[in-house]
Amino acid sequence: MVCKVCGEKAQVEVRSRGFALCKAHYLDWFVKETEKAIRRHKMLSPGERVLVAVSGGKDSLALWDVLSRLGYQAVGLHIELGIGEYSRRSLEVTEAFARERGLPLLVVDLKEAYGFGVPELAQLSGRVACSACGLSKRYILNQVAVEGGFRAVATGHNLDDEAAVLFGNLLNPQEDALVRQGPVLPEKPGLAARVKPFYRFSEREVLSYTLLRGIRYLHEECPNAKGAKSLLYKEALNLVEKEMPGAKLRFLEGFLEKVQPRLQGEGEVALRECQRCGYPTTGAVCSFCRMWEAVYRKAKKRRLLPEEAVFHPHAEPTRAG
Ligand SMILES: [Zn+2]
Ligand SMILES: [Zn+2]
Repeated sequence: MVCKVCGEKAQVEVRSRGFALCKAHYLDWFVKETEKAIRRHKMLSPGERVLVAVSGGKDSLALWDVLSRLGYQAVGLHIELGIGEYSRRSLEVTEAFARERGLPLLVVDLKEAYGFGVPELAQLSGRVACSACGLSKRYILNQVAVEGGFRAVATGHNLDDEAAVLFGNLLNPQEDALVRQGPVLPEKPGLAARVKPFYRFSEREVLSYTLLRGIRYLHEECPNAKGAKSLLYKEALNLVEKEMPGAKLRFLEGFLEKVQPRLQGEGEVALRECQRCGYPTTGAVCSFCRMWEAVYRKAKKRRLLPEEAVFHPHAEPTRAG
């Protein structure tokens, strides 16, 4: 196996695309391929300030690295979710990354900002942990972006993530979810744009980049992720990929290019301002505020909060880098 660029011994086989590359040319290819995806979908303008959601995992740290290399003003946002040692180590790894590279990092600590982390939230909200966590992350990411004047938020979702979401949405068909999926979600009043520059890279390709670049990341998965449906979907898709290289990318791109444009969405759902926080919602009060109001009610009943405690939707990030 030799590098298709220089003919030296290859380090990474990009099997899905039918070539292999040496370390230097792989690093080069990966960064250029990201830039291509960004241009193709007009995700960001050159040099733009962008808020990068960083968990401390391989994907988000690689994304922060690549976006900085490409000349974007990439500011990291880490949300401390309060999931025991896992969250503590996630923050540590992320801070170390920012420090070593002199990159600006913002941190929102869920427990500090609202009183409870994900484990308590799961017990008090009537939602399962991943649902409460996902909702919190989406909301806080958007809030920090809007208030910090960022037009766009970038996340490290890769091909495996996106293909698994699509697969799941086809197994449990929901037209609106199928219409919404994509590498770019445009901005709206009160809503920052969401972009996924890594959506064409497999998990393995991102991991190869992270390792070859020598990025230190948190290997450990969130303890709540065990048994998640998305892992089953990824496994099934990887089984196919193994026999049919390129299947995952064709699946996702084929859907986005050929199928999705023909789907009839419910039309634009009118967004209004949440009565509590002012951020976009389809109802009177947004699901984030509703979740926390329910949590506060229950916490007071269980005497985990004083009777006079009031939920404040606004979280102020602290600077950590
Ligand atoms: Zn080479
Ligand atoms: Zn709200």
